[in-house]
Amino acid sequence: AEVATSVLRADDVAVHFGGVKAVDGVSIVLTPGRLFGILGPNGSGKSTLLAALTRLVPLTRGRLEFEGRRYDRVRPHTIAARGVARTFQTVRILPGRTVFDNVALGAESAGSGSKAERGRARERVRRAIERTGLSGKERHRPDELSYGHQRRVEIARAIASEPTLLLLDEPTAGMNRQERDDITGLLADLRAEGLTQLLIEHDVQMMVDACDHLFAMNFGALIAEGEPEAVVRHPAVQEAYLGT
Ligand code: ADP
Ligand code: MG
Repeated sequence: AEVATSVLRADDVAVHFGGVKAVDGVSIVLTPGRLFGILGPNGSGKSTLLAALTRLVPLTRGRLEFEGRRYDRVRPHTIAARGVARTFQTVRILPGRTVFDNVALGAESAGSGSKAERGRARERVRRAIERTGLSGKERHRPDELSYGHQRRVEIARAIASEPTLLLLDEPTAGMNRQERDDITGLLADLRAEGLTQLLIEHDVQMMVDACDHLFAMNFGALIAEGEPEAVVRHPAVQEAYLGT
């Protein structure tokens, strides 16, 4: 049997919205335990690529594999249940529910299953809350939190599921310097524990510091990939992203 050496493999993925070729023939391979990044100007297709990888938009063409199994026809909840967790560019949390309840949505069986299972799920929720710096805010509702803390709730929900692959769409947008450092520190810790991650952020220096491997996109296509310093220096990336 073929050995799965990749966590995720996308082959020639395209997502067109009418005439808009948001993603147009992207192939990527994510190997285990590394922190991957996507750089690209606004509108270059980064979020749409994440939507494709999590089955939230239909593919116009292409093929997706997770841990060696094809998944380009499965439903979003199926791929989430297999171990792909994500956060959104625009925070998506339930406004009427507490921080604890929102995070518990990520930990399956926090409200069902056997007593032992519920206990383990609650422990995952508690640990995710602690790791994202939300301790003490369990009973708060999202509208009582700063924007940065609302973003942390989303990250906590994603890690409470103990995923195999974590996809993060601009997780530090709207955060101050200290909050951003907290989040990049958390992602580095998760990486040290062996979690595979794919991160979208605009801050070039942050991406060079945080990532093992960068993908650069422009107009829905990959224009460079590889070692972060080399990708940032690539002429096509300089021209497209850095405007030089
Ligand atoms: P990025 O995340 O890199 O800023 P997006 O993936 O959000 O880029 O968008 C890529 C392109 O696809 C943009 O031109 C955007 O307007 C378009 N687009 C994204 N989502 C939709 C949609 N649901 N319907 C139509 N066009 C879309
Ligand atoms: Mg985006």
